[in-house]
Amino acid sequence: MRVAIAGAGLAGLSCAKYLVDVGHTPIILERRDVLGGKIAAWKDEDGDWYETGLHIFFGAYPNLLQLFRELGIEDRLQWKEHTMIFNQPEKPGTYSRFDFPDLPAPINGVIAILRNNDMLTWAEKIRFGLGLIPAMIQGQKYVEEMDQYSWSEWMQKQNIPPRIEKEVFIAMSKALNFINPDEISATILLTALNRFLQEKKGSTMAFLDGSPTERLCEPIVDHIVKGGGEVRLNAPLKEIVLNEDKSVKGFLLRGLDGAEDELFTADLYVSAMAVDPLKVMLPEAWREIDCFKKLEGLEGVPVINIHLWFDRKLTDIDHLLFSRSPLLSVYADMSNTCKAYADPNRSMLELVLAPAKDWISQTDEEIIQVTMEELKKLFPQHFEGKNPAQLRKAHVIKTPRSVYKATPGRQACRPDQRTPIANFYLAGDYTMQQYLGSMEGATLSGKLTAKAIAEDCKK
Ligand SMILES: Cc1cc2nc3c(=O)[nH]c(=O)nc-3n(C[C@H](O)[C@H](O)[C@H](O)COP(=O)(O)OP(=O)(O)OC[C@H]3O[C@@H](n4cnc5c(N)ncnc54)[C@H](O)[C@@H]3O)c2cc1C
Repeated sequence: MRVAIAGAGLAGLSCAKYLVDVGHTPIILERRDVLGGKIAAWKDEDGDWYETGLHIFFGAYPNLLQLFRELGIEDRLQWKEHTMIFNQPEKPGTYSRFDFPDLPAPINGVIAILRNNDMLTWAEKIRFGLGLIPAMIQGQKYVEEMDQYSWSEWMQKQNIPPRIEKEVFIAMSKALNFINPDEISATILLTALNRFLQEKKGSTMAFLDGSPTERLCEPIVDHIVKGGGEVRLNAPLKEIVLNEDKSVKGFLLRGLDGAEDELFTADLYVSAMAVDPLKVMLPEAWREIDCFKKLEGLEGVPVINIHLWFDRKLTDIDHLLFSRSPLLSVYADMSNTCKAYADPNRSMLELVLAPAKDWISQTDEEIIQVTMEELKKLFPQHFEGKNPAQLRKAHVIKTPRSVYKATPGRQACRPDQRTPIANFYLAGDYTMQQYLGSMEGATLSGKLTAKAIAEDCKK
């Protein structure tokens, strides 16, 4: 079967990869001139890469890790020490760590929490442990039911001291969905905690050894092309054209640089676009169909990724850091963490600014200035005194609508990969799968779409 897929993010690429594996012919049509969607990266005039987002791969990503193995590129993942490192705002320039010993889960997680006495008291750890009991006993069913509460509401319901939220979970919810605990659904944090506590290596983290476009997307494309598929960049879907029976007649592609629009036809069609462009593109005749109507409840959340190149080394930490700053979320010194960006003498920080709703329309200069103010708190030793660290250059990448904003009630809005339209499927991290809006979620969604297509074709 010829399958037209709109979107070359991880979901579209994964869908095409698994389609060629079972003998179908996918043709990916990507709007932009770059692969990867939210993992896209670009090279600047000096040859330095800059990315849409600082991306971390977790041990608890079975589908993405399997994809790496299937492509023979698992050595491109640079696994770091099994620990989580938090800045301590009340003691600028210092860190607090959760070190996971090499023991089975959940013992390693429990020991990591019990051994950390900088952030939580013993009484607080016990109260938190007691609050988690229903999730541990009832499992995923309970986790899904908690989608009616925000994380702050859930903590209150479980009688967990609010200080724990301030100390640990503001950083965690910003890292997971770029919003604060009073907005994020309890299901998101409980899902992550479940994975981190139930799988021995669930919370181990890896950085890719270079840009995601080159080191991850390109090998997927090579695999697709070798299998007879195709990937077309600069091929924006303009309209989903329907037959009289509401099935898809073709994807109308916008002609660029004065070229005519083109009606691209195939046997089957997949949208692997993010939910926001899909909503805009939904044909009028589909808008009242439940599966599409409920998409109205999903919307991408703004986030900003910042790259700062300095004239010296600010840290030798080779890991992700949770800033615990009101402005920033996680960050890393990519000159330590990523082989292709390595520099023994000068730091390149990649930082995520979240929540970003008040900053997304500010200028790059304003964003850089406010981030530099934050860095004075994170690295006081390098920004005080007569010879402060100098910023060599910077890039700011704004994503006004990134992953869907996972507020309470969103689980019910996430559609299946199959739709009521017989020749039309969905792929994307927002579609229903157990891994939230993430690279793992996108990869799994694409795989599920390919599986649904393969099953339906057999029928
Ligand atoms: C700053 C940031 C940090 C992140 N950090 C992490 C992390 O550490 N770990 C993690 O697991 N996840 C992280 N994520 C989330 C992760 O990047 C996404 O969940 C995942 O990449 C989404 O993939 P997708 O294929 O579902 O969607 P997308 O990547 O959005 O792909 C959709 C594609 O469709 C294309 N498209 C749109 N409209 C059209 C059209 N009209 N015609 C044709 N094509 C079209 C787009 O150009 C895009 O290429 C982060 C995201 C951001 C923004």
